[in-house]
Amino acid sequence: MLYTMNVSDDLISWYMDHKRSLPWRETRDPYRIWLSEIILQQTRVEQGMMYYLRFVNTYPNIGFLARAKEEDVMKNWQGLGYYSRARNLFATAKYIYHDLGGEFPRSYDNLLKLKGVGPYTAAAIASFAYKLPHAVVDGNVARVLSRLFDLELPINSAEGKKLLDSLAAELLHPEHPDLHNQAIMELGALVCTPQSPGCGKCPVRMHCMAQQRGTVTMRPQKVKKSKAKAWSIHYMVLESEEGVIFRFRKKGGVWKGLFDFISLEDVSEPSAEMMLETVKGVLPQVEIKSAPRQVYATRHLLTHRKIEAEFWHISVTSVNGGALSGDCRFVPFEDIKALPVSRLVHKYLEKTPWLE
Ligand code: SF4
Repeated sequence: MLYTMNVSDDLISWYMDHKRSLPWRETRDPYRIWLSEIILQQTRVEQGMMYYLRFVNTYPNIGFLARAKEEDVMKNWQGLGYYSRARNLFATAKYIYHDLGGEFPRSYDNLLKLKGVGPYTAAAIASFAYKLPHAVVDGNVARVLSRLFDLELPINSAEGKKLLDSLAAELLHPEHPDLHNQAIMELGALVCTPQSPGCGKCPVRMHCMAQQRGTVTMRPQKVKKSKAKAWSIHYMVLESEEGVIFRFRKKGGVWKGLFDFISLEDVSEPSAEMMLETVKGVLPQVEIKSAPRQVYATRHLLTHRKIEAEFWHISVTSVNGGALSGDCRFVPFEDIKALPVSRLVHKYLEKTPWLE
């Protein structure tokens, strides 16, 4: 225990001198800490900062977020990706506000019951907001621990994760779990980086087994993941004189709750007839005025998907005011910029005059 306390003390005193000043570190408000943690999942600090400030300005407390319109929350999230985070964020805000009387859960176990909150986020909120002794293990911490203890086990295997959890808990400072957690994550972000770690200026190099054994570049070990699957999407963009027909993604999947267009998926090189038939199948009332014309093509990467997307423009007669079937909605040109859309659709919209 003396050994691990030394590590933690060294980490904390280094952190106090070198930490970056970040707004979510200046608060003990569990709402703001939760918000920052959800935003920072799979997001770089620089990018997350803008979204964090936007969210705390627009929704300064859980009541503001719970009473917001889902469409607005999704719009404010736009560009961050992983939209299930935004949907969970909104669902959790409503749950806390309506079912828990606006009181954030105060224990690790109850935090874990919140949608979108896993062991890492629960430990982060529990320690940062309430100083509870729960150790965080994110990618940065896993890398630091695997080098500190020179672990041969892959950090993304079940056994590896179990071992990391127990080492992280053992290392945790009993009186300052908040500072300890921040410090070890900061070390991973600033010094013990994936490539070229700065061992020469590392506050825990005297304790680091990988450094002593010359295995730093071999740590952490990881099990190779399967390659991203290919996904081809042909979007049909129906434009009339007053606006564009969008489709709302109501069902599950990565883009649930966002708007895109009627599409043909995983069909390689569909013919013009096939596209027009698809449009007619979804929107029989719409009168088509022109053949599909390709206006934009791009590649887009999601975590497990490699997307080849093509956007096809089709002119249609005016449908403004008429009811549309198939989750479709007519959107006047001037309202397009307010729609929540995926980063992929946004890439296309940027090529049109509709966002100006
Ligand atoms: Fe990481 Fe090097 Fe510090 Fe070890 S000595 S924890 S490898 S930066």
